[in-house]
Amino acid sequence: MTATIIDGKAIAARKRAEVAIRVQALEARGITPGLAVVIVGDDPASEVYVRGKEKACDEVGIYSTKHTLPETTTQAELLALVGELNCRSDIHGVLVQLPLPGHIDEDAVIEAIDPAKDVDGFHPLSVGKMLVGQQTFLPCTPHGVMVLLEETGVDLTGKEVVVVGRSNIVGKPVSMLLLSKNATVTICHSRTADLDFHTGRADVLVVGVGQPEMIKGSAIKPGAIVIDVGINRVDGRLVGDVEFDTAVERAGAITPVPGGVGPMTIAMLMDNAVTAAERATAHE
Ligand code: NDP
Repeated sequence: MTATIIDGKAIAARKRAEVAIRVQALEARGITPGLAVVIVGDDPASEVYVRGKEKACDEVGIYSTKHTLPETTTQAELLALVGELNCRSDIHGVLVQLPLPGHIDEDAVIEAIDPAKDVDGFHPLSVGKMLVGQQTFLPCTPHGVMVLLEETGVDLTGKEVVVVGRSNIVGKPVSMLLLSKNATVTICHSRTADLDFHTGRADVLVVGVGQPEMIKGSAIKPGAIVIDVGINRVDGRLVGDVEFDTAVERAGAITPVPGGVGPMTIAMLMDNAVTAAERATAHE
């Protein structure tokens, strides 16, 4: 058996096209959605991600501004910029690219973003609202995972879903979104005693660990849906957290890396940015 490939690239392109239509509807009312992206220092991976976000903004018609600050930027300077962006009426979404240099308190910066402009969905208010099921901005990668699962047509109700990884940006939020769809969710992490036992009984397996090709095909339940969030650079090539070549022989459906979750993250950011503009201008 060879798994169906879940084509994140194509699904993301469709989602961006839907966003572009909503942008046009705003434009017809004289509103241009605006996204500010702040990057501190010169982390090469962050620069690649930010370029991807700018490109997507151009494509869907979102006005974007990029604010590049030096590695030596103080926390006070960064907070001042976030405060300015919070006040700008032409900017509906504010995103500070993570990770930040070690001398800056990431939590303080995230908390400084106006929750109405929190298009990354990392503000504790956004996280809390997601947890209790209130309207908010969903974090982009977990939201992208949910859209990919929806596209497979799987009914998550009652399914055994195993999430490997418990970070605040991937594992924890995706687990909560899966729970809200009535899945029975198990969250595994680096201290999980018998990881293979859990992955081997998962109808749906979501992996975000940052360990190249850690999950082998033999650890996957035959026919399972596998969502590989991992992006790892190994010898100049991108690989996921799942060993694709063995997993594709075992799973029922699987995301490739690249071309799976990655493009969805950016598409969901575009979705959040246009949503922010729609909400901010709903009464204009
Ligand atoms: P973190 O390093 O923040 O978290 C990794 C998680 O994996 C932790 O919960 C850790 O457990 C767990 N883990 C690490 N090693 C093992 C192991 N051997 N067995 C079981 N669990 C383990 O990473 P992120 O969540 O930020 O990112 C995860 C991956 O997803 C990375 O490859 C990253 O590049 C990618 N990513 C991709 C995105 C996309 O757009 N596609 C967006 C964001 C991330 P513990 O908590 O116990 O330490």
